[in-house]
Amino acid sequence: MRPAILNPLFADARSLSGVGPRIEKLIAQALDTEAGRAGHAGRAGPRILDLVFHLPAGLVDRRYQPKLAAAEPGRIATIALTVVDHKPAVRGQHGQRLPYRVLCTDDTAAIEIVFFTAFEDHIKRLLPPGSQRIVSGRIDSFRGRLQMSHPDFIVAPKDAASIPDVEPVYRTTEALNARILGRAVRNALDRLGELPEWQDAPYLARQGWSGFADSLRAAHAPKSESDLALTAKARMRLAYDELLANQLALALIRASMRGRGDRRGRALAGNGILRGKVLAALPFQLTNAQEKTIGEIETDMAAPSRMMRLLQGDVGSGKTVVAMMALLIAVEAGTQGAFMAPTEVLARQHATVLQKMAEAAGVRLALLTGRERGAGRANLLAALEKGEIDILIGTHALFSEEVRFRDLGLAVVDEQHRFGVHQRMQLQGKGDKPADVLVMTATPIPRTLQLTAYGDMDTSRLTGKLPGRHKVETRVLPIARLREVVEALRRALATGARAYWVCPLIVESEKSDLAAAEARAKMLSETLGPKVGLLHGRMKGPERDAAMARFKSGETTVLVATTVIEVGVDVPEASIMVVEHAERFGLAQLHQLRGRVGRGTARATCLLVYHHPPLGPTAKARLEALRRTDDGFVIAEEDLRLRGAGELLGVKQSGLPQFHFADLAVHGELLAAARDDARLILAKDPELNSARGQALCVLLYLFERDEAVRYLRAG
Ligand code: ADP
Ligand code: MG
Repeated sequence: MRPAILNPLFADARSLSGVGPRIEKLIAQALDTEAGRAGHAGRAGPRILDLVFHLPAGLVDRRYQPKLAAAEPGRIATIALTVVDHKPAVRGQHGQRLPYRVLCTDDTAAIEIVFFTAFEDHIKRLLPPGSQRIVSGRIDSFRGRLQMSHPDFIVAPKDAASIPDVEPVYRTTEALNARILGRAVRNALDRLGELPEWQDAPYLARQGWSGFADSLRAAHAPKSESDLALTAKARMRLAYDELLANQLALALIRASMRGRGDRRGRALAGNGILRGKVLAALPFQLTNAQEKTIGEIETDMAAPSRMMRLLQGDVGSGKTVVAMMALLIAVEAGTQGAFMAPTEVLARQHATVLQKMAEAAGVRLALLTGRERGAGRANLLAALEKGEIDILIGTHALFSEEVRFRDLGLAVVDEQHRFGVHQRMQLQGKGDKPADVLVMTATPIPRTLQLTAYGDMDTSRLTGKLPGRHKVETRVLPIARLREVVEALRRALATGARAYWVCPLIVESEKSDLAAAEARAKMLSETLGPKVGLLHGRMKGPERDAAMARFKSGETTVLVATTVIEVGVDVPEASIMVVEHAERFGLAQLHQLRGRVGRGTARATCLLVYHHPPLGPTAKARLEALRRTDDGFVIAEEDLRLRGAGELLGVKQSGLPQFHFADLAVHGELLAAARDDARLILAKDPELNSARGQALCVLLYLFERDEAVRYLRAG
């Protein structure tokens, strides 16, 4: 149960004065909260918490108080004026509407206060002729005269103190006035009471940080630009709180999964016989990196606690055979293995590759996707439950209710960055005894991000190139040189090459993606002949497989595709990759696409074609980085640096954690400190029973890591 002390923060924003149903909805949109995105889905609206976590993105400084003669247009100024005259809105000579204007002066010059939409009576009350007024707003110059439209403040001199020196500015939408949002945030901050201190006092003192509530208030009251920096003291404290909640949650989950009771896992030791047979049949030798990784997995599986291991390896780094070795350990130990791929295409491809290895060892392997139906499916499921199938390959359908293993020892999950901790936990639930888990990802994740997303797991990295692999030659070209690209392609095809052509990624709609791909396929087949195939996301499974198969067999030699080929597809003969609209892709994504070629021994080329020259600085840096290196881990770090963690890998869809305060591109060191802190905390106080432990529970609830507390209680 959430500690009662947090109730005021979790109350609805609607409970604030001035926030009715209409504003509430606008706030939800402006803050882009879960609830706001869910919108009509009947979820609760924004909470006080969402408002106080919405930190200012800028500030307005009203301390500039010039005389009119010296006032600089474009600046926000606060000026003492005498009201001279009102000029009501009229039609000008050319029929245009002139705004309502109020002429004012100080002892140096004149200025017009301008109202485009105006209630005259109201303006007359605000600015009675002959009166003294202090106004604050942006000064402009129009046809050589000073103007201020719709001042933010108009007060009598006796009320001058009601104009703030500095005001925070909040990111908002067009529909929600920034000052209404600002007022809601201010009112929300008033609900912020003291919370118990969950940080270590000496550490806080060393950092010079204040308490949580004070830091939050300070973060909302910037006095200068430097207070807005991610490295400002108040923001650092908040970032640290958030990262500690993240790391503590992962550490608790980790402890709960490995440490205690019947969820402890078991030792799976193999005799090496099946593995030996498969290795003997392979046309290659394992690399040192592969052997090392298999060793790490073997040790984990043999340990009595459950394996939770992340295997990171670039596209084409040879993860599949490592996964097979792990599955064989499970089979050698008398249990079953499951291998889950993210798409049907990939599940089929893995099944084909692994089937050959399985035959060498006499291991029974089967494929299960949504497409296996009827009696075949029923037989397969029955065989699985009887233990007549050793290794089952499939999509996420593998983990549905109806699929029952006799004894699942290991689950391998491929390309899994779409999944969060919850999904990993679900895997755990299969079978009576908890299975070991090996997660493989071909998207190299920067170390910092890896810690926040997979901090509950151990990691292995497959680094270095496989023997005989070359760097893919990469060039960056504007679309104006399309003819050259097509010509080069024609020459390469004549020598027997095969090419992917990835079409514009159009964010707005899948339909226009398709249209663009179809148009390009048509254009290419007109110039290059009939061997141009098309693959896109709207094709049904069998159609897609057929298109892939035609490309694989060489029946088609150019495959025009939307990004469905992004993950894992393996056609070793493909040696050319053309990516159109390369500037719209993320660095990691481009790296993945490029990884589709250069999988065979032939020299490979990647052409990154951009559509809207000149390239912006970030797009340029991105494409330049790709040209420079093909090391996925270097590229991942670069991606984080260029885009920030929020944009990385489409974080929103991915299940990777999102942060309010922390920015991994900036707060990497804080994260490392939070991880160490979390480990230390649990080493000393595994059940969070101490006073600090109790306060840390409040922290976990505050950052909505409730699930971690549940694991703590359940353990
Ligand atoms: P990943 O799954 O990491 O993208 P794969 O496991 O599909 O990569 O490996 C890519 C290709 O390299 C496959 O064709 C595979 O047979 C081959 N391969 C794997 N390990 C080695 C090795 N040690 N030496 C040579 N080729 C290898
Ligand atoms: Mg084990």
